[in-house]
Amino acid sequence: MRLVLVGPPGAGKGTQAEFIAAHFGIPKISTGDIFRANVSGGTELGKQAKQYMDAGDLVPDEVTNAMVHDRLQQDDALDGFLLDGFPRNVAQAYELDKMLAESSTTISVVLDLDVDHDEVVRRLSGRRTCKNCGHVWHIEYDKPKVDGVCDKCGGELYQRDDDHAETVRHRLEVYAAQTAPLIEFYDERAQLVAINALGTVEDVTERAIAALTSYAD
Ligand SMILES: [Zn+2]
Repeated sequence: MRLVLVGPPGAGKGTQAEFIAAHFGIPKISTGDIFRANVSGGTELGKQAKQYMDAGDLVPDEVTNAMVHDRLQQDDALDGFLLDGFPRNVAQAYELDKMLAESSTTISVVLDLDVDHDEVVRRLSGRRTCKNCGHVWHIEYDKPKVDGVCDKCGGELYQRDDDHAETVRHRLEVYAAQTAPLIEFYDERAQLVAINALGTVEDVTERAIAALTSYAD
């Protein structure tokens, strides 16, 4: 299965991505992981991406596209994958089509995690990120054993500036404006499946698996 996962920030996308990928036995490929791997590995693309990130700029599409292209050519991704964070726009969706056409394949399905905006605000503003390993905890839904300390590595947790409630609504508006064309693009191709992503992590995973099973090989 070649799956693209989309959903607003705070829809629990990263968590669902892990469970869904594990269920279907496909690698989870997130742009965040790809960026980190390229930057820490010191690849040419990683060096380019780092220049933009250090300057506080978005990594341009051509750099992101090249990193995703490299990643999709690795052995574990040849028979299927879950993409998280890519494509972000219609231009990248066309690039993804081109990459897959090289191996005469296409996207199987795009899963849209649909959530209520108030719920997203609650989810995002409760997030606490580890300064050391980047793992994201939640003060209500996914608490570390000790407040303010990462269970995984003992690192210090903090609230990212863009997880503050007042900025979350703005991000949701930006997300909706940017991704509406992408969602419409896949919907018009009849490749889009939406599920309600409100509820417990387990419930949402079950809904996702039920919605996707007919697309598995
Ligand atoms: Zn940590």
